[in-house]
Amino acid sequence: MRRCPYLEELVLDRRALLRMYRFDCHVDHQSKRKYSITDSPPICVRNFEDCHLYQSEKRREDRTISRYTD
Ligand code: SF4
Repeated sequence: MRRCPYLEELVLDRRALLRMYRFDCHVDHQSKRKYSITDSPPICVRNFEDCHLYQSEKRREDRTISRYTD
């Protein structure tokens, strides 16, 4: 499974027909929840490159790396 490198933890909790995904993001240090009645995991384990938090953190890291290599 592809997963965002900034994903700290992903927990799936099934209750009756409802799925609750709890995921902790290293970028904003928030614990988030996503509710769904179908199998629909959060962006962190799908197309995480589209996440604005991922993009901003990746840019920040790339800038830091280029400062060290220049
Ligand atoms: S995809 Fe976005 S919200 Fe999810 S862990 Fe990565 S940066 Fe955080």
